[in-house]
Amino acid sequence: MNYEQISQLELTHHSGAVGRRPVALVRAKGTRLWDSEGKEYIDCAAAQGWANVGHSHPVVLAAIQRQAETLVASQESSYNDQRALWMADMAAVFRASLGWTDCAVHPSNSGTEANEAALKFARFQTGRKGFVAASRGFHGRTMGSLSVTANKKYRDPFEPLIMPVTHVPYNNVEAAAAAIGDDTAAVIVEIVQGEGGVYPGETAYFQALRQLCTERGALLIVDEIQTGVGRTGRWLACEHHQLSPDIVTLGKSIGGGLPMGVTAWPKKLGLFESGTHGSTFGGGPLICAASRAVIEVMAEERLPERAAELGAWLLAELRGLRSGQVREVRGLGLMIGLELRGKVTPVLQQLMERGVWALPAGLNVLRLLPPLVIEQADLEQVIAVIRDVLK
Ligand code: PLP
Repeated sequence: MNYEQISQLELTHHSGAVGRRPVALVRAKGTRLWDSEGKEYIDCAAAQGWANVGHSHPVVLAAIQRQAETLVASQESSYNDQRALWMADMAAVFRASLGWTDCAVHPSNSGTEANEAALKFARFQTGRKGFVAASRGFHGRTMGSLSVTANKKYRDPFEPLIMPVTHVPYNNVEAAAAAIGDDTAAVIVEIVQGEGGVYPGETAYFQALRQLCTERGALLIVDEIQTGVGRTGRWLACEHHQLSPDIVTLGKSIGGGLPMGVTAWPKKLGLFESGTHGSTFGGGPLICAASRAVIEVMAEERLPERAAELGAWLLAELRGLRSGQVREVRGLGLMIGLELRGKVTPVLQQLMERGVWALPAGLNVLRLLPPLVIEQADLEQVIAVIRDVLK
């Protein structure tokens, strides 16, 4: 099918929810994407942050193929070998990254569901109702996660959302201190705000949130759906700040391209009671096998270390561009934002014309989230294209 045929057919049945670029992507491998007309792009978006190990990594593919022939989906209410092994692998990640010796790992089907589970667990354990979240924060689009998401454009058409939620300025300890009260079940925060414009938070801020939550009996949820799985140069971005939250959520790349969310916490906080949460496909064997392969590849190919090294180099190179169109370059690891003086959409379009697929973050930030397996030579090409487009 060509672009016209594909786009017309989609538009015929489109719900209207997510706007499309005028391109039909039909194939991907490693760090490359191809459209229906055969045009090749360097993927600087890791698809939408979910391809940290690259597209169709052979280890992930082999795991999916093997498991697809054995058992694709299973009952939540029975044990399963792949889920058991995956839980142990995930627990090992949390032990190594955060020092959690004994942790509960709840699988779901997306980032927003990982946050739903975290919010429900916080209410369930604390008996409190309220949440504190950050301005510019993004946590998903289902009703609970949307309630802690800040952007009014996403929220307003769906009010009333869950209550009470207080949004306070990011990186601002006083504002957080004023907002966390006796009825706060949890504070939810990103280590680098992704959709909100690629804003890294500061160690003093996260340490203060940790202390405030501990003192006031609220749980600290860190949403690592975009920052996790090596993206910022550590397995979890919390590690940059020696931060041990109460709950961590993962999504995107943890499923290796299959839909998965993860909500994890130290078991000393307690557990859900049977029946209080769950989903039909969460923790299915196919997805768990894919996710185990991702965890293996992350270690084998030292991808967090790679993201740290390449990310520091890329950030310095982009800061050196000195284009009049760029107001600021921010980032951590291979999560980088160029805040532009004008709108990002025409820049994205020109990058696509020159074979670079990047992301926006808000109206004026160009966001780069390449797969962590990307070669430095590819990034050199990307820098050259960005320099050319921003001339
Ligand atoms: N949280 C963060 C930080 C995200 O970046 C996203 C998605 O972009 C989500 C939550 C929602 O994840 P999903 O789109 O898988 O529901």
